[in-house]
Amino acid sequence: MADIAVIGGGAAGAAAFGELLARYDAGTVHWIVGQQAPGRGVAYATGDDRHLLNVRAAGMGVFHEHGDDFIQHASRQLGQVKGTDFLPRRLFGDFIQAQVGARIDAARRAGRSFRIHPGSAREVMARAEGGYAVRVGADRWLDVSQVVLAIGSLSQRPLRTVSTTALAGGAYELDPWRLDRYPRPPRRVVVIGTGLTAVDTLLSAAARWPHAELLAVSRHGLWPFRHSALPLGPYAQQDELNQALLASDGPAAMLRLVRRAIANASETDWRSIIDGMRPINALLWQRLTHTQRRQFLRHARWIWEAARHRLAPASGEAIYQLQEEGRLQVLASRVLDVDGTSPLQLTLRERATQLVATIEADLVIQATGLDTAVAYGAHELLAQLLRDGLAVADPLQLGVSAGADGQLLDADGAARRGLYAIGSLLRGNLWECTAMPEIRAAAHRLATQLVEVGTTDASCDSASEGS
Ligand SMILES: Cc1cc2nc3c(=O)[nH]c(=O)nc-3n(C[C@H](O)[C@H](O)[C@H](O)COP(=O)(O)OP(=O)(O)OC[C@H]3O[C@@H](n4cnc5c(N)ncnc54)[C@H](O)[C@@H]3O)c2cc1C
Repeated sequence: MADIAVIGGGAAGAAAFGELLARYDAGTVHWIVGQQAPGRGVAYATGDDRHLLNVRAAGMGVFHEHGDDFIQHASRQLGQVKGTDFLPRRLFGDFIQAQVGARIDAARRAGRSFRIHPGSAREVMARAEGGYAVRVGADRWLDVSQVVLAIGSLSQRPLRTVSTTALAGGAYELDPWRLDRYPRPPRRVVVIGTGLTAVDTLLSAAARWPHAELLAVSRHGLWPFRHSALPLGPYAQQDELNQALLASDGPAAMLRLVRRAIANASETDWRSIIDGMRPINALLWQRLTHTQRRQFLRHARWIWEAARHRLAPASGEAIYQLQEEGRLQVLASRVLDVDGTSPLQLTLRERATQLVATIEADLVIQATGLDTAVAYGAHELLAQLLRDGLAVADPLQLGVSAGADGQLLDADGAARRGLYAIGSLLRGNLWECTAMPEIRAAAHRLATQLVEVGTTDASCDSASEGS
């Protein structure tokens, strides 16, 4: 028994499944894809072409060796596109499906064994004889030797300041991608959040309800920074900076070094310096103590996220236009309370003045970003893994505790043989692990490891059967 189960039908699951299909001969590869169209996940299921990738086309690929496949794929649909373009995310969803489809065809031709299961994985039980039993749907069980959790982040939980009355009233939306649930145009829409998801939500809302007044609220009231229109050259002293960062002690010292580099390198765009840190970001995070990580999350997270995960220029321009036209206002305020039904009442404390005011909204959409607080979420499979001690929550609620290779740590702190995660569940260990460039590298590394272990296990099994 050397079968492998990949759980999760998003981009990370697709990448891991495709990498395994290309290489794994020692057993069946199962892909448990959940309820939605396989391959797209949350990010690439959108049908709204205002929702753009925030990585240039040349940087987007599903598998380790991707070349310019995505550019060619997009050119077939849109006419000539350039590697420097920021394309609609829908196109990348189509591309993932096409890429996995091609791997499936090749695996069939090579006689490899695989199965795709619609529905959710609901339990993963450790077997006394080694390996895992995975329950899919109500009562289908798979016996596998290795499991990959590629389940993305959790569904959003309401902010603590939202009353049960407001939640029950139907005008507080936790899923920013489901504006189609509101056939009646609202007069005023409040989006909580000013990050990348909030931007997409506001662009969709503006197009869907041209007469609605739009408000975006977040503590700092700041949008992510924009990408430059064209790629930037590297920072000449990046290696020295990265060495100094790796030798520094804690987030405050790191911030000082980055600030100094930006101030001194007047001929270099600051974005090059931030991007040049990408290869060491996980290492920097891993060197921080628990307390330093808390400090980073408390004081520097928002500015880091805004600088690191930037907006496509066209999205930034569209938001700017909405503000110029007076259709969109941004408030730097803390949401103290959301109550009532129709309209909802939001009580806000303004950051600059500390004044408290109440505003009304016909629809409030929560777009506050990734939730990886597994101990508090309502994910059935994760809840079972935590209950059974096969997984433990990261102490800062950034997913689950895991080793550098994605192997889960169990309740005794031991590496759990054959149980791995990929993507946002690993933020506690890697911090930056959710964008495609990181995901496809992780999928490639993980598949190499799974193939090696699975092939060894399978040959041990056949040797013991023979003896
Ligand atoms: C709005 C948005 C835009 C983004 N834009 C970009 C971008 O432009 N470029 C970039 O590089 N990155 C981008 N990202 C980062 C993005 O997270 C990754 O690119 C990638 O989509 C993450 O995929 P995932 O599979 O880890 O998670 P998800 O997309 O969340 O997929 C996880 C899937 O697993 C399923 N699932 C959960 N539990 C189970 C279960 N028990 N059984 C079976 N299935 C289950 C879920 O239903 C879901 O379909 C974006 C992210 C978001 C949210």
